[in-house]
Amino acid sequence: MSGKSRLKPDSVTGKTLKMPKRKQILYASRFTFHFYSYLCSVKIKEVLCALEQFAPLPLQESWDNAGLQVGLTETEVSGALLCLDVTEAIVDEAIQKGCNLVVSHHPLLFRGLKTISDLTDVQRTVRKAIQHDLCVISMHTNMDNALGGVNARIAQKLGLQDVVFLTEKRVDGIVAGSGVIGTLPSALAADDFVLAVKRTFGVECAMCNELLRRPVRRVAICGGAGDFLLDDALKAGADAFITGEMHYHQYFGYEQQIQLCVIGHYQSEQFTAEIFQEIIEQACPGVRTEIAATCTNPILYL
Ligand SMILES: [Zn+2]
Repeated sequence: MSGKSRLKPDSVTGKTLKMPKRKQILYASRFTFHFYSYLCSVKIKEVLCALEQFAPLPLQESWDNAGLQVGLTETEVSGALLCLDVTEAIVDEAIQKGCNLVVSHHPLLFRGLKTISDLTDVQRTVRKAIQHDLCVISMHTNMDNALGGVNARIAQKLGLQDVVFLTEKRVDGIVAGSGVIGTLPSALAADDFVLAVKRTFGVECAMCNELLRRPVRRVAICGGAGDFLLDDALKAGADAFITGEMHYHQYFGYEQQIQLCVIGHYQSEQFTAEIFQEIIEQACPGVRTEIAATCTNPILYL
C-alpha cells in the first residue's frame, strides 16, 4: 500500500480513525483543498464578466457606481450570495454560508469613503468584507436599463405580454431603456388589479390613487424610485403604473387618468437576485449561488 492510499478514508464509513493525528490533518487539508478546487474552478472575474455582459456598465446612469465595489477578482469563487443591499448582516450571511462573493443590486459604495472605520454601516461593511476576503459586486442602473433586466422580470412575474421599454435608448450600440410597458392577458377591474399586484409582490398594502373606473390592461413598470417615468407611462397609454416609491405631491392630478400602484422600493426589486442567479448559473455552471435569506429592507410596516 502506498503512502498516498493509506491517507484515504474508509470507503464506506469515510472515517480515518486509525490514522496518526498528523496524517489525519494532512489528509483533511488535502481533501479540503481538492474538494475546494473541484467546486471553485471559476474566478470571480469570470462571474463579473458574465454579469457585465448581460448588463454592460455603460448602461448605468451618470450618478451611479455599479461594478466592482470591494475585493480581488482573481480569487476563485467559493459561492455567491445574491441580494438587493449589502449590509453587515449580508456580509455575515456570506461568511456563514462560505460565499466569498456578494452580488447586490444597490451599490455598497455610492460616494467616496474618506474614512474606513466603524462609524457608519457602510464603513463597517467594507471593513468586514475586506477582513474576510470577500468580493462585492453591484449591478444597479445598468441592470435596470438592460434588456431582460429588473423591470422585465417584474413584468414576467405579473404575466404581462408584448413587453417593451417605456423609453428606449441606445448606448454604444446596445439597445437599453428605462421602465417597461406590457399588456395583461385579460383586462382587470382596478381593485382586482391592485389585489393581483399585492399578491405577486407579497405586500399587505399598496399606495394607490383613486381607483380607476375603466379596466386596467396596459401596465407600465419601473422598479425602485420610478416616479420620473410617470408622464412617459401616461403618454405610452398605460392604464396603470407600478413603482416602488413616489413623493406625496406626485399622486395629485392623475385621477381617472392612470392607476398608481406603489408597493415599496425593496418589494418592487425583490426578484433581481433571481436574474443574478440565472446569469451566473448559465455562464458559470458549478458556481454555487444562494439568494440571501437576510431581509435588508430598512423600512418596517408596523
Ligand atoms: Zn433600487
